[in-house]
Amino acid sequence: MIRECPNHGYFRGEVCKCGETGRYVMNTERTERMGRFISGALRHFPDDLGLAMNQNGWVNIEVLLDVMKSRYPWASAQNLGALVESDKKSRYQISNNNIRARYGHSINVELDFLDNDLEFLYYGASQEEADIIKEMGVRPIRQRYIHLSTTYEKAIEAASYHSDNPVIFKLDAFGAMDDDVKMMIANEFIVLSEEIPPDYLEIMDNTSSE
Ligand SMILES: [Zn+2]
Repeated sequence: MIRECPNHGYFRGEVCKCGETGRYVMNTERTERMGRFISGALRHFPDDLGLAMNQNGWVNIEVLLDVMKSRYPWASAQNLGALVESDKKSRYQISNNNIRARYGHSINVELDFLDNDLEFLYYGASQEEADIIKEMGVRPIRQRYIHLSTTYEKAIEAASYHSDNPVIFKLDAFGAMDDDVKMMIANEFIVLSEEIPPDYLEIMDNTSSE
């Protein structure tokens, strides 16, 4: 569930990190429903919902709320703001009257975040994928951008959703950027990238490919 702490704002769960229980905002079921809805709307099928999205991925919040309220009458601007602010993965961004997903798009958007400033980034792959990546590099397949992790630990975490024993690649980000590969900071954990040639990728020594 989402609650609001008088000292720390919106948070997920029963108790804030400071021990305050605060004020009830939205239950777990509604939080999950709204999360699924805006993920679909902002990452995958805005057209199906009749939402006008600009090329940078932005949708007007009022318009999104109107569509959402037609399905979920309990949806409100406050609930939506609370969901975005309390999201530990920083999936969404609100600016003025607009909202967008920071990452995870399957639709063709051109995001305009700041350029990556980390020298090394990390990417996790299954054993099978790793063999292809060594030859071909990394290409976005079902997603608009490749999702790179800002730390080794985050790469393991991300890859663990679809591989039991992931291979972690260390990426020479500055080298790739010098070679005109566009890389942008989506949030604290994720850098979005266009296709990366194999020359800038190296399997890390402390992961085994067998
Ligand atoms: Zn608090």
